[in-house]
Amino acid sequence: MTKTVHIIGAGISGLSAGVRLAKAGYTVHVHEATQQVGGRCRTYFDGATGLTIDNGNHLLLSGNHHALDYARTIGSDGGLVGPAKAEFSFIDLRKNNEWLLRLNDGRLPLWVFDRNSRVPDTRPGDYFALAPLSWAGTDKRVGDTIACNGVLYDRLVQPLLLAALNIDPPLGSAGLAGAIIRETLLAGGKACRPLVARNGLSSVLIDPGISFIEAHGGSVRIGREVRELVRVESRIATLKFVDDEIALGPQDAVVLAVPARAAVGLLPGLSAPTKFRAIVNAHFRYDPPADLPPILGVVGGLVEWLFAFPQRLSVTISDGDRLVDTPREELARAIWADVCKAARIEADLPAWQIVRDRRATFEATPEQHALRPGPVTSASNLFLAGDWTDTGLPATIEGSVRSGDRAADHVLRM
Ligand SMILES: Cc1cc2nc3c(=O)[nH]c(=O)nc-3n(C[C@H](O)[C@H](O)[C@H](O)COP(=O)(O)OP(=O)(O)OC[C@H]3O[C@@H](n4cnc5c(N)ncnc54)[C@H](O)[C@@H]3O)c2cc1C
Repeated sequence: MTKTVHIIGAGISGLSAGVRLAKAGYTVHVHEATQQVGGRCRTYFDGATGLTIDNGNHLLLSGNHHALDYARTIGSDGGLVGPAKAEFSFIDLRKNNEWLLRLNDGRLPLWVFDRNSRVPDTRPGDYFALAPLSWAGTDKRVGDTIACNGVLYDRLVQPLLLAALNIDPPLGSAGLAGAIIRETLLAGGKACRPLVARNGLSSVLIDPGISFIEAHGGSVRIGREVRELVRVESRIATLKFVDDEIALGPQDAVVLAVPARAAVGLLPGLSAPTKFRAIVNAHFRYDPPADLPPILGVVGGLVEWLFAFPQRLSVTISDGDRLVDTPREELARAIWADVCKAARIEADLPAWQIVRDRRATFEATPEQHALRPGPVTSASNLFLAGDWTDTGLPATIEGSVRSGDRAADHVLRM
């Protein structure tokens, strides 16, 4: 039986694979290239605001079963907090109106028939027109599958799919959008409660994962960039780092859980997405007004989602490529103007930070989705994980954990 597994990359995909294998009795060693674990999902102290912030606001849903199972295993699921019901507050900045979307718990979408629960100015028939998405093929675009206009589109479908796909929805893969619709709206309110790591992503999804692996006899080491995977016949035999190397035993396995570009660097010829999209996050040091919901969907402005954290208002803007070259202060001022309207406050620009991740997610088009590989490689002891591998979902925490779980299951079957 394989005893030792080397995981390359300490993001959510690598840690979830490591936790699953450590739980199964394997000795797990995680090697992270940078000086911080967590990858695209991490917490740090920000000097500009004087606050501890996440690189990006991350929203999970109660139906993200793999992510929640992972959090339960490492004992941190209590750190994911949200309302008891699937309720989403929205504001339309153009029309200056607000509404509360309220999904009933069961799978039967009764909320669609209740004018106080559904999106204002929509009718039940508008919702059924979304049905083709739920069975669309992965080669189709959202824009070829449903009408991307109208009130329901502007107030629900566009914000939901933009957040999930991180691309202007008409261009996005209808197959991936369909997976989101099936796992959210069609799964009922029980699967749609919004959850955030109120005290930071690292304290909930990263640090307890490391502690779990270490408590099971493994290690997680930073500053350990794997430079080469040396192959002998059909197996990976050696991991080469900058200054040293590790020879693998005949039973040892490797899970490569690095971003797509790094994976292709280590495995030339690997099929992987080549195009990526940015996400912009803005953080403002400002005590949220007492009546501001913890998560507010914003329609008709630059801001898309406004999060209220202790001492901080935080904003997410998806598909942010158009903003990556805007001067930082200009961008902060424009976003703050929207925040003031959405939160109904009047205040000068407080201490702020803008975080722009240019390669936040792979581009969720049919073409890029078709490039995503499965977990199995031509080396018998090497498996792939990562949100960009073919998980059936867009690049999300849930997809990352699924990929980690799946790679771990392959190791367990070796
Ligand atoms: C701003 C932002 C907002 C987001 N919002 C959401 C959200 O609201 N909800 C949601 O579900 N998802 C969200 N996501 C997506 C989510 O963060 C990612 O899907 C997830 O974190 C990807 O994890 P991963 O482990 O697959 O990859 P990564 O986090 O990229 O981890 C890969 C790790 O491998 C390391 N590495 C690379 N090369 C090497 C090497 N040669 N040797 C050793 N280590 C190496 C990297 O340093 C990195 O730590 C967001 C992402 C961003 C950037």
